[in-house]
Amino acid sequence: MAQFEGFPPLPSYELTPLPSLIPPIPDKLLTLLLPIVAYWGLSMFFHWIDTKDYFPQYRLHTPAEVAKRNKVSRWEVVRDVVIQQVVQTAVGWVLGMTEPDDFFGKEEYDVVVWARRIRVAQGAIPGLLATIGLDAAGLAKNLSPAHPALAGALMGGRYPSIDSLKAAELSSRRASVGFAGWELNMAWAIYWVLVPMLQFGVAILVVDTWQYFLHRAMHMNKWLYTTFHSRHHRLYVPYAYGALYNHPFEGFLLDTLGASIAYKLAGMNTRQGMVFFTGSTIKTVDDHCGYALPWDPLQHITSNNAGYHDVHHQSWGIKTNFSQPFFTFWDRLLGTVWTGGDVSARYERARLAAQKALDKGKVSPITGSKPTDSIDQDPTPYQNDFRDATDLPSITIENRQPQPPAGKAELQAASSRQQILDDKKDGGPSVLANESYEEKEAMSSARRSPRKRATSTLSAKDSFKGLRDRVSGSMHGRTGGIIGVDGSR
Ligand SMILES: [Zn+2]
Ligand SMILES: [Zn+2]
Repeated sequence: MAQFEGFPPLPSYELTPLPSLIPPIPDKLLTLLLPIVAYWGLSMFFHWIDTKDYFPQYRLHTPAEVAKRNKVSRWEVVRDVVIQQVVQTAVGWVLGMTEPDDFFGKEEYDVVVWARRIRVAQGAIPGLLATIGLDAAGLAKNLSPAHPALAGALMGGRYPSIDSLKAAELSSRRASVGFAGWELNMAWAIYWVLVPMLQFGVAILVVDTWQYFLHRAMHMNKWLYTTFHSRHHRLYVPYAYGALYNHPFEGFLLDTLGASIAYKLAGMNTRQGMVFFTGSTIKTVDDHCGYALPWDPLQHITSNNAGYHDVHHQSWGIKTNFSQPFFTFWDRLLGTVWTGGDVSARYERARLAAQKALDKGKVSPITGSKPTDSIDQDPTPYQNDFRDATDLPSITIENRQPQPPAGKAELQAASSRQQILDDKKDGGPSVLANESYEEKEAMSSARRSPRKRATSTLSAKDSFKGLRDRVSGSMHGRTGGIIGVDGSR
């Protein structure tokens, strides 16, 4: 402590147990409850908008798509989310028991500790100035009358006016009197603003990193994908409360454990944890909300938003946009961001097809065969043809799907489709069968009636101009490029 010799003494302090934020609920319990309340509260807000159809112009998908394209019922989603939240709460409870109880009363002491560090750091200033040939003492002398604080800092943290206070005077007043005003202000800002900001920055970085690599592994390894992660992707059309629809093991590993590790590494206290866990829950819900609301700040703070993550839920984009939940830098650094630019043609096709499929139930079909039958039936004698066909991406891409620009986007789309195809358990082949069937049908009807096509192109262009802006704009992707069904052929 020799370095603090001659410093004003540190203030004494007395620790008092921190009263709970909302009595009588202990803060540690509130930290577990608040994320769940936020999850269902925000989800129900989006669900209400959805059922009342208040903002159809900002939807990423239509209700017909929710009905036709998802491979899981809303009830099953609710059930599995509740299971994940039970696990999350149990783990949080154990984590909470390892944490010390919260006290207050030491804040002024801690601020003064920072003021001392600032004073110590000033000791290096004269030496540093000397290395560039400046005479700190001379400078300080000239500056002293007009800028005493600056002069004090230049002299290595010597403040004659403060130092001249008698020791007796110091001890009778608050110890912080021994510091210059700017030292205390800076110490206050470090303690109350800078350090907490760094803690949140670290926690966000840890969660994003943890989630990116595990999420990516879930997609790169076929066993991991089909055993665990394919469940989350039964939602081709995400909705808010589907955000935590996961296999229980995945929910534990990615969400619960990731957030807990981030909390520990950032050295947060209970109330910081409350903000962090609740905030990341809200962000995750917002990324799955199915809306690109222009007045939703979470859609604009980072480029990781509902539009960005929605691409990851599509059959052609599933192997891209792995980053979650805060930033997109891992995708950009490691080249896994969707590169196909504008995706409005794909969204438009899915929308029209879902509507058609919904309407189809109302007229009598010409044959009883449905494209989904193919999943339930013995593939003989087509087995070899089918296997060979999937080895030829040119067939899937050029003849049966909207064409992405050549190059990386083509590989991303082909790789994504292969993942869907591998996921037989969740009906992947039937999803692709449906999509190529829809595509073919749309192409042939477009050829049959050019007049009708022109009209539909026009109206589709009108209604989807906004969507294009929302999806590609929010992804910061390149615009233009995909030749869609009704596109510029
Ligand atoms: Zn995924
Ligand atoms: Zn998702």
